[in-house]
Amino acid sequence: MEDQQLIQITRKRSIPEDEFYTAINRMYELVWERLLPPQIETSRLRSRLERSVVTPVDAEIPDCVTCGVCCSSLLCVGVRPGEEPDRELTWSVTKSDDEGEWEVDLYLRRDEETLACAQLEGNLGEHATCRIYEDRPQMCRDFDAGSDRCHALRRAYGIEPFLSLDEMMEANARLDERDALPSDPTLITRVSIERSERRGELQINVKLRCGEERVLHSFDPAVETWRHFQFEGITLTAAEALIAGR
Ligand code: SF4
Ligand code: SF4
Repeated sequence: MEDQQLIQITRKRSIPEDEFYTAINRMYELVWERLLPPQIETSRLRSRLERSVVTPVDAEIPDCVTCGVCCSSLLCVGVRPGEEPDRELTWSVTKSDDEGEWEVDLYLRRDEETLACAQLEGNLGEHATCRIYEDRPQMCRDFDAGSDRCHALRRAYGIEPFLSLDEMMEANARLDERDALPSDPTLITRVSIERSERRGELQINVKLRCGEERVLHSFDPAVETWRHFQFEGITLTAAEALIAGR
């Protein structure tokens, strides 16, 4: 995808899903080209403090006000129903078929030059603030300062020193140990929202770790929305409880 095309996309309000993910993948490439190579595969690192594997428990928690790198590098900041900031601040990602078009996702827009979250103000590593801090989406709130992923991003931006070779080997050994633990076969590994066979309805399809695929929930999009509920990585029972409790 040409970078000029990318700028056009950042200016749109509504983007078809396939076009959106092509653009996001290109943005990821552009952002990561500017960074130092990650020492540990970032996708293995969690953004919650309590799930830290690499960072020592007594490590100092960095100050977000002098950082801002997660707001710059994590490109898909999803917005759940009920926490919509002004529509002007978001991209609506859509799917369509013969029956019409529907919204599958809503994301905070990116700045067309820096590709950082458009709500981020300041200079990375010096002074950073969020223009909608009080109303920021849950996804932003779930990214803990001091988590493994936070420190990894800060290293990639050169704000924190790299791990030593020994620290890196120890971290990888701990991650291997964690990933070798047997996991629940009903853990949800993939989620998609598709048109249901029942006219006017959408359905949430999930794939489980054991390979089984099933419909988790069908709903009328005029009555319910299920954007950015974290079904991925939780068990089927937990997902069903989440739906029942809503
Ligand atoms: S990377 Fe960590 S310290 Fe930096 S802004 Fe994000 S949460 Fe805060
Ligand atoms: S909304 Fe605020 S906290 Fe969330 S990514 Fe954007 S700048 Fe960061």
